[in-house]
Amino acid sequence: MRITDVETIILRLPVVEMIADGTQDALIVRVHTDEGVTGLGEVDASPEVIRAIIEAPASHALSSGLRALLVGEDPMNVRRLWDTMYRGSIFFGRRGPVIMAMSGIDIALWDIVGQVTGRPVHEALGGGYRSRLRAYASTLMPHTPRDAAAEATRWVESGFRAIKLGWGGFGTAPDGGVALVRAVRAAVGDQVDILLDIGFNWEPSRAIDYARRLEEYRPFWIEEPFWPDNKEAYARLADTIDIPVAGGEEETTRWAFQELLDDGHVDVVQPDVSRAGGFTEVQRIAEMADLHGRPCVPHAWSTGILKAASLHMNAAIPNALMMEFCVWAGPLGDELTEQRFWIDENGEVEIPRTPGLGVTLREDVVARYRI
Ligand code: MG
Repeated sequence: MRITDVETIILRLPVVEMIADGTQDALIVRVHTDEGVTGLGEVDASPEVIRAIIEAPASHALSSGLRALLVGEDPMNVRRLWDTMYRGSIFFGRRGPVIMAMSGIDIALWDIVGQVTGRPVHEALGGGYRSRLRAYASTLMPHTPRDAAAEATRWVESGFRAIKLGWGGFGTAPDGGVALVRAVRAAVGDQVDILLDIGFNWEPSRAIDYARRLEEYRPFWIEEPFWPDNKEAYARLADTIDIPVAGGEEETTRWAFQELLDDGHVDVVQPDVSRAGGFTEVQRIAEMADLHGRPCVPHAWSTGILKAASLHMNAAIPNALMMEFCVWAGPLGDELTEQRFWIDENGEVEIPRTPGLGVTLREDVVARYRI
């Protein structure tokens, strides 16, 4: 079997708002083969940038667009093809958008492996540790305590036992968001886990004070309080407070996560399967975190393709904890795939059992939003 093409599809809503919602556009990857099997993947990054990285012709042996490196190759050699892409783009790649583009292709390649072997992706990756797992509802933090309480209540009433509120109100709160979190805890009671995504909004010099004041509301974790490059601030906070500190959604490659663990001292790593390097690399990142005794909770805030990929990833790693389930649903987040994932009465989501990734695109939705 040989790869014949790597196709990119860009989708975008008619109006894009400047809020922290990554479901307003999408970059879909399809890897085609000479045997008629097609793999499906996705990249959660700027679509036109990713398309250029995939479609660029070769400049020389260490500087090539990704499609040119793959056409003619056997798609079953996924790990070797990861290295082929990494080395063949190393003069302009190594981190960031090139690894993100590789991630979408890697997801599509594992989809092919699963389809060809008749196994769901998590079995192709080595087998499942679990057949279902708890999901946390992931949404944006409203700007007032009253709205924050209402947003949290909405998802608890929908059956979630854990909720993450992020960005939004943390950017405008004068007190680091303490009043917002107090309102959320009062609204949902003691039995629900509350996760906080600060969205880089804390001043490092105030962070320990904010975290101390949040302790009585028992946050499950504090995510990304600072800009990702301020590893020193991460380490200081993580070493000082008892609430776990989480981060890593914009990091790419195992080497970046090694720094996040060694220099940032984070308690939970959050590689995004569609950004950090695909299934191949996130499996390695999860194992590295496991060596440090830390859980890996993949970031996921996009379409049904990433929901499926994230479920397979969570199934295939020993140190999974919960699935991030984006409930901030625009039409691309909610309607792009035939399959609709949802929680059961225990707040858990079932891992897909069908061969490959287990999702198919809704062509009518693709046609409506295609650029
Ligand atoms: Mg986040």
